[in-house]
Amino acid sequence: MPFVSLGLSEPLTRALATAGYDTPTPVQLQAIPAALEGRDLMVASHTGSGKTAAYMLPALMRVLAARQSAERRARGVASGPRALVLTPTRELAMQVAKAATDYGRHVQGLRVATVVGGVPYGAQLKALRGPLDILVATPGRLLDHLGSGKAVLQGVELLVLDEADRMLDMGFIDDIRQIAAALPAQRQTLLLSATFDGEAGSLARELLREPQRVAVDAHTEAHGDIEQRLHWADDLQHKNKLLEHILTERSVEQAIVFTSTQRDADWLADHLADIGHAVASLHGGMPQGRRNRVLQGLRQRRLRVLVATDVAARGIDVPTISHVINYGLPMKVEDYVHRIGRTGRAGRSGLAVTLAERRDAGMVHRIQRYTEQSIPPAVIAGLEPQRKPEAARPAHRRAGPPRGGFGGRGRPGSPGAGRPHRG
Ligand code: AMP
Repeated sequence: MPFVSLGLSEPLTRALATAGYDTPTPVQLQAIPAALEGRDLMVASHTGSGKTAAYMLPALMRVLAARQSAERRARGVASGPRALVLTPTRELAMQVAKAATDYGRHVQGLRVATVVGGVPYGAQLKALRGPLDILVATPGRLLDHLGSGKAVLQGVELLVLDEADRMLDMGFIDDIRQIAAALPAQRQTLLLSATFDGEAGSLARELLREPQRVAVDAHTEAHGDIEQRLHWADDLQHKNKLLEHILTERSVEQAIVFTSTQRDADWLADHLADIGHAVASLHGGMPQGRRNRVLQGLRQRRLRVLVATDVAARGIDVPTISHVINYGLPMKVEDYVHRIGRTGRAGRSGLAVTLAERRDAGMVHRIQRYTEQSIPPAVIAGLEPQRKPEAARPAHRRAGPPRGGFGGRGRPGSPGAGRPHRG
């Protein structure tokens, strides 16, 4: 089914054709027509599903509609953005804003702004003063602007909460409530989340009116384009050898190596640089300017390897990432799904390799249970594990609690020094 039959106008279908998208993804197929009807939506989806376009295209349809109405056009100037998208991280906000300008490239005079933390206020204030169609923001900084009266949100017709579960995890609940309270009650709200259990479900009940549910089974969906592999390592040294071996393979176009802590990310990036890799680290402890430069380096392919933490790597959408390597296992099973979704983008295939030590066995089982997929074990000739790993139990068997303890353990380079920082 082509995009045009979902009810999208020509300027948008033309931009989609330019981007090379000819068929809607399942989440787009379900969400777009319902969103165009003006319904509130609860969308269960993960990155890589095409969720951004699923809400951005309806948002752009509103902008197009407003362009055709003189009355609404006149109103727009004073009343701020028509669509507001909240995201948990700065990186995701940038990504979403880029999607808005990409899909909206044929929307005349489209104005998109981002308001995120960690960058100077000046440009944001200027953007907020001017006429605006779509505002993409992280909750904390937007609330700052709201408090100082600089952000005008009375013209918002559409509110999107992207990765709502993540925003809640990051403690944004009160910010979200305050922002929602500043919006017109007569609006459409779309809530996207990997899960609607717990807090995300309560938020949906609080903010949505007779929502339609769109569920493309998030975590158990097979990632057809992503091959998963598990390597057992005897110890840290063995794990480092496995990593170094994988990274020297020719098939690695670009790789993201995930660590559990910021300190590990820095340590590992230094180590890989020492042995000649074009590498940088990316984590939440770095100033935004540097994070942007690192991401730019990745996109421009000056970097071949990025060593990142979960929070920082959210939303990275670089199609040339051929490998995701789990060097430190994630703290939460959901993050595994987010991590491997950094590869296999835009119709390409990707490889997700997990390097696990014995103490990670519990987490490996939990991931397999959560995704309802087993991660096939593999070995590299000459680097086989010497100790027999605890057999990788099949996914359907009950796994016990994690054995090793994943958070807070001392780390290579700086054993036991201080508390590790996540993110
Ligand atoms: P997202 O889930 O929004 O992070 O999008 C995942 C990736 O899929 C992004 O690289 C999009 O540009 C791409 N994408 C979105 N919609 C489509 C589509 N209909 N066909 C092919 N690729 C798409």
